[in-house]
Amino acid sequence: MRVELLTVGDELLLGDTVNGNAAWLGRRLADHGVEVTRSVVVGDELDVIVEAVASALGRADAVITTGGLGPTYDDVTRDALAKAAGVGLVRDPALERRLRERAEASGRMLQPMAFRMAEVPEGAGLLRNSAGTAPGLRVELPGGIAYALPGVPFEMRTIMDEVVLPELAAIAGPPGVARRTLRTARVWESVLATRLAEVEAMDGVRLAYLPDPAEVKIRVTAAGPDAPGRLAAAEARVRELLGDVVYGVEDETLARVVHRLLVERSATVAAAESLTGGLISAELTAAPGSSETYAGGIVAYATEMKARLLGVPDALLAEHGAVHPDVAAAMAAGVRDRLGTTYGLSVTGVAGPEPQDGRPVGTVYIGLAGPEGTRTVVSPKLPVPGKGPEIRAVIQRMTVVH
Ligand code: ATP
Ligand code: MG
Repeated sequence: MRVELLTVGDELLLGDTVNGNAAWLGRRLADHGVEVTRSVVVGDELDVIVEAVASALGRADAVITTGGLGPTYDDVTRDALAKAAGVGLVRDPALERRLRERAEASGRMLQPMAFRMAEVPEGAGLLRNSAGTAPGLRVELPGGIAYALPGVPFEMRTIMDEVVLPELAAIAGPPGVARRTLRTARVWESVLATRLAEVEAMDGVRLAYLPDPAEVKIRVTAAGPDAPGRLAAAEARVRELLGDVVYGVEDETLARVVHRLLVERSATVAAAESLTGGLISAELTAAPGSSETYAGGIVAYATEMKARLLGVPDALLAEHGAVHPDVAAAMAAGVRDRLGTTYGLSVTGVAGPEPQDGRPVGTVYIGLAGPEGTRTVVSPKLPVPGKGPEIRAVIQRMTVVH
């Protein structure tokens, strides 16, 4: 079963609205084993939509459109589907009644144009919209089925989940594709790809690399007979080759994994941050239930604050400046001590864009203080992405991940 997406709206072409519908649909359909083979954006123009629907159904079994189902005259998707099917629009009495009832209930006068929402291409099926007024439409065309959904994301998702996905899943039969996302940290995409070359060569297995600063999600896709079995074999091999570089799967973020590991040890953590300005604390509080394991944090940005708030010895700061492994260690011990946690975690480094105290941008020291003592991780200098102010956010995010 092959599906194409057609998102409709001038605002999408102009960039006023980010095409979240296409992203959500792509993901949702893939999760249900339905292959999306193309995604197209068009403006609110009747003939362009007619042509795009026809050409999609020349290739795929179904096309899903979003947008242009509202009452205003720039909403022309229903007209386009009628034209594509070679039929007229007919007024649906039940829909008309519902529009009138809604208007009465809210004390509104119905504008004539509102009745457009009660018009449907002759012979079209209505897709129940439990989240709004306008239903979606199912129109059978010579090349396949067109599903038209409203543009409002919440309504589109509701109809998709309640009506269209079950219908498509029934047509598509058992999935011939299985997917799993493995999450990795601190190893670059190209290094991962080199190490995983043999997995890529496995029969029916494909790998996709989705990089973020210092993190890469590896999407493993297995197709063909016994896709789930192939997927399991591929995942096992990836884990053998990468070891603990793989820290989680699917939506298990670093924050969640850290939280889980701390819960398992009945341990707590506090953060002392410099260059990240609180981002590590933000990350540690992102996991639900984090109050069990995260006690609090101190942002000691100015050098003298590292002494005042965390008790880093003045002599150390005078001798080395703020960016030094011993400073990281003293910060970690200081925050652990002050907040009374099992672990104290610290970072100090240079976010850029200019070097600091003679140390280049991307120099980062991480301190960890725990019951077994204090250690520092001298992270390899982070790769600096270009020049200019935007590198700060990237260096900061990479530091959080490290
Ligand atoms: P309505 O009945 O509300 O008019 P509609 O089907 O006519 O619904 P549009 O008018 O095209 O839909 O879009 C309604 C709103 O939904 C837009 O203002 C926009 O914010 C949002 N929207 C439309 N298309 C998308 C999209 N592809 N991605 C994200 N949001 C979208
Ligand atoms: Mg509209």
